[in-house]
Amino acid sequence: MHKIYFMWKVFFIIICIFFCENIYSQSINNNADYIRGFPNKFRTSYDVKNYDISLDFDFNSKSIKGVCKVFFKLLGDLDTLQIDLYENMTIDSIVVDNQLLDYFRYRGAVSILHAFRKSSDNLNLITIYYHGEPHVAIKPPWDGGFVWSKDKEGNPFIGVSVEGVGASLWYPCKDLLSDKPDSVKLRALLPSDLMLVSNGQLREVVLMDNNKTLYNWFVGYPIVNYNVTFYIGKYVHLKDSMQTVDNNWLSLNYYVLNYNKDKAIKHFNQTKKVINSYEHYFGEYPFLRDGFALVESPYAGMEHQSAIAYGNSYKDGYDGYDYSQIGLKEDYIILHEAAHEWWGNSLSMDDLSDMWINEALATYSECLYVELNYGHEMYNRYVNAKRSYMLNDKPSFSAKYFNQMGSFDMYYKGALMFHTIRNVLQNDSLFFNALKQILIGYKYKNISTEVFIKEFNLLTKYDFTDIFYEFLGHTERPLLSYKCVNKKQNVSCRLNWVSDNPNFVMPIEIESKGTRIRLDVKNTRNMFVIKDTEASEIKFLKENLFYFKK
Ligand SMILES: [Zn+2]
Repeated sequence: MHKIYFMWKVFFIIICIFFCENIYSQSINNNADYIRGFPNKFRTSYDVKNYDISLDFDFNSKSIKGVCKVFFKLLGDLDTLQIDLYENMTIDSIVVDNQLLDYFRYRGAVSILHAFRKSSDNLNLITIYYHGEPHVAIKPPWDGGFVWSKDKEGNPFIGVSVEGVGASLWYPCKDLLSDKPDSVKLRALLPSDLMLVSNGQLREVVLMDNNKTLYNWFVGYPIVNYNVTFYIGKYVHLKDSMQTVDNNWLSLNYYVLNYNKDKAIKHFNQTKKVINSYEHYFGEYPFLRDGFALVESPYAGMEHQSAIAYGNSYKDGYDGYDYSQIGLKEDYIILHEAAHEWWGNSLSMDDLSDMWINEALATYSECLYVELNYGHEMYNRYVNAKRSYMLNDKPSFSAKYFNQMGSFDMYYKGALMFHTIRNVLQNDSLFFNALKQILIGYKYKNISTEVFIKEFNLLTKYDFTDIFYEFLGHTERPLLSYKCVNKKQNVSCRLNWVSDNPNFVMPIEIESKGTRIRLDVKNTRNMFVIKDTEASEIKFLKENLFYFKK
């Protein structure tokens, strides 16, 4: 490319990025997050079909050297195409059709200058050669990054987890959650005493010279970028299988450190019951060809598609702690992360601001597991125990396209919200059908907050919009304020919701002398007269709804 033209293009694109930032990121401190999150035309004009990643590791310098082939379909002609890669990673070259391309970098964006022309149905290919020391996680999986650790016998035990921080931390990609590649290949060369585990199917293991082994993995389904991962360790592979709800055979694969083999065989027995339970509500396990896997990881856990990170030390609950608070013995990591195969991995968030869909429904799935296996009373206790984990620190929804995560309340308040919604609807078949139909309609696709709520309302034939926003769009949860007094042979109850939305309406149920009565409570004070009873006979069904205040 001519040098003056190149300089002009760089100037134009930087101006564009700055201009967009001024418009969209006035309240955002970190404009790198905006550049990561915003679907500008340099990213939306192409659709990624496949990533083909080859890696070489240097354990001593904690660095990687990689080649990433990006296969994509152009949606229109494009002269600048944006790929994302963290600034600390060095790009050695970018090649199209044996031609070295010009590019420039601004924050995490790599703008590739080339006349990409939409001519046929053929896929385009960009090959990116890169190397560097990827960011190391301080507290994985919550802050994201690489973990270079050793197992207790001193062998390398390595992994990566990047939800939120983004996959471009370690491989060049279009780091937008809304563009899932249809498949991913990942291969790496390792010392032969170690094993590399990744998502999907192990297609090839090739013994090479110098005591090295090449591992070749393939993911045969759409996969969201942050779910692509690898694990390196001295693993043994335990194989099992189970029949799915649709009578297919699902392979179960457990990759565990060699000295934990006996513990794992016993402990992972519970997996089938967990998968069976989720299939009961949500339909067949969505990644049948790739199988289901738990992979021992040097961090607590993460829902990596068909290769779930397992770091819960083969203990009950969460690292031996009764996280359920009701004495449930199940391994919390298996229970929670397996639910993400439906909520998060098959149906995926469109943007980080939609992450509540993954977490609220994975957490609510745990509750459904408890209901199916231990009954409704235990379900009520399990879901209501989640109240104690709420922070009420900020909304669970976050700003769209700014790569920002909402409050951790999306887990607990989110699950309690679905519990409340189910009790407001009072029609379990409609409620469960709505969840299942959304999973079917968005299988392997992405869904936004707005579309999820719209679909849920249509399927349940009830407008829950205000309830979703009141619970998750605000810091506080709605509180029910109430006072009931005797008035001759009747009872007069003053009821109102204390909520951020002045028009908030949500029905509640009370019980009087064994009869259930439904009352439409608003944000403003309403008086309800309950006939032929006494105040002491009025029972508020607190376990069915979310929060109460006298
Ligand atoms: Zn989760």
